[in-house]
Amino acid sequence: MIAFTYTSRPGRIVFGAGAIERVAEELDELCIRRALVLCTPEQRFLADRVRRIAGEHCADVFDRAVMHVPVETAQEGVAAALAAGADGLVAAGGGSTLGLAKAIALETSLPILAIPTTYAGSEVTPIYGMTSAGEKKTGKSYRVLPRTVIYDACLTLTLPAALSATSGLNAIAHAAEGLYAQDANPVMSLFAEEGIRSLAHALPRIVEQPDDIAAREAAQYGAWLCGTVLGSVGMALHHKLCHTLGGMFDLPHAETHAVMLPYSMAFNLPAAPAAHERLCRALDTPEPATSLYDLGRSLHAPASLKALGLRAADIPTAAAAAMQAPYYNPRPLSYEAVHRLLTSAFDGMRPDSRTFESV
Ligand code: NAD
Repeated sequence: MIAFTYTSRPGRIVFGAGAIERVAEELDELCIRRALVLCTPEQRFLADRVRRIAGEHCADVFDRAVMHVPVETAQEGVAAALAAGADGLVAAGGGSTLGLAKAIALETSLPILAIPTTYAGSEVTPIYGMTSAGEKKTGKSYRVLPRTVIYDACLTLTLPAALSATSGLNAIAHAAEGLYAQDANPVMSLFAEEGIRSLAHALPRIVEQPDDIAAREAAQYGAWLCGTVLGSVGMALHHKLCHTLGGMFDLPHAETHAVMLPYSMAFNLPAAPAAHERLCRALDTPEPATSLYDLGRSLHAPASLKALGLRAADIPTAAAAAMQAPYYNPRPLSYEAVHRLLTSAFDGMRPDSRTFESV
């Protein structure tokens, strides 16, 4: 029996090396006459380039995007948009810059044109997050979903190999969990399988030669597909654990996903045979969890939670937090199982489909 609900999301994708040159006509298409361009301080050069290309379509640049979108920064961004008389936002950068654009759009309803430069995928999701007093709150609103995304692989050439690897594994994690989502559907499963395949082939080539533009394009294509899955179907244990570890212990976002992914898959895939089959095809392996672990090692990504700075004493706290507020997962959860999963990831041992057989 095949039964599902699939909602296609609005949004225009402009994909191609050099596509940044089309920013003025794409702003025109959105009827944006006075854009506020957002970036991190490190990527100011990119925002200035966007401003030059956008010409009279650009009102100002706000270069204060930082990780985790502090609510104070979001308020400053709203003030800057109002002061500039902005009628739209351009987010040029990674997930942190996209996060700032979404926080401003949530308050002002300004349309967003996104120019992503990592593989995080936020540019195709309606998910936003903001941090207040050390606590990150996330939500979903179609007001924050970018209207147009310009994917220009040339802009990712400067993304360091280490960040490319972890950002790419972060993208694979979106698609892998999307394969066993409660609201999974055949369209998103196609996106997920193809996205994982494309990234898994591209990332080793990027780490070996970061200026390989064909590999960069393949990774960005995969990131678009995987991000779309994240924006369309629900996530489960893996994303919950990464969110908990990031929020409670300040572990870095993409690196935490990179470490956790093989363990989450080793735990969940025995309870999700259709997802297992697609991952086997995408990664060309009979053991997807082991294969993802080996991929991480070949990319020189961090191998354990210990290497990210977690302490052994934090594991019970993290396991208890991850058990709070019930949520969907294909395999039933217990404190012991989550504790065992976190302990394995803490040690960085090589997992396979039998690692969590007895929990
Ligand atoms: P990031 O945006 O924090 O970027 C990390 C650093 O790399 C920054 O200093 C940035 O300026 C720099 N950088 C980005 N692209 C570069 C490039 N091409 N060349 C050189 N430097 C570059 O990192 P990220 O992993 O993209 O984003 C992480 C954040 O995004 C987290 O807060 C996470 O929660 C959020 N996120 C949100 C969603 C969503 O759907 N809402 C999805 C994924 C991630």
